[in-house]
Amino acid sequence: MPKFSKTSLARLATCHPDLQSVCNELIKQYDFSVLEGRRGEQAQNAAYKQGTSKVRYPHSAHNKIPSLAVDIAPYPIDWQNISRFNEMLIRFDTVANILRAEGIITSEFVYGGKWAHLKDWPHIEIKEK
Ligand SMILES: [Zn+2]
Repeated sequence: MPKFSKTSLARLATCHPDLQSVCNELIKQYDFSVLEGRRGEQAQNAAYKQGTSKVRYPHSAHNKIPSLAVDIAPYPIDWQNISRFNEMLIRFDTVANILRAEGIITSEFVYGGKWAHLKDWPHIEIKEK
C-alpha cells in the first residue's frame, strides 16, 4: 500500500480537513505526492512571478488558513503523462463522492485539470458555496 512521504504529510497538514480526508483515503489505493498545500505571502508572490499562479497574495485558495486548495501529482511525477493526472483526478473524485455519501466530508471540489484554458492538472480546490 502506498503511503505519503513526510514532506507530503507536512504539506497536507496545512489543508482543509476535507482535502486531507480525501487524500488520506486515496493514498491507500494510488501513489501520489502532495506538491503544495498552503502558500504564505512570499511563496504566493514567487509562484505569481514564476507564472505557476495567476494571482498575488492573498487571492489564491492556497493562501487561506487552512488552505482551500491542494496540488497533487502521481508518483513518480511525469509532467508529460497527462493521462496519469487524469486518472488520479477520476480516482480523487470517486473517493470524494464516497466520503460525501458517508457524511465524512461536505465539500465539493473544482479540478484545475478540467479548466478549459490554462489547465492546472495538480490543482484541486474546494468549491465555494
Ligand atoms: Zn494549486
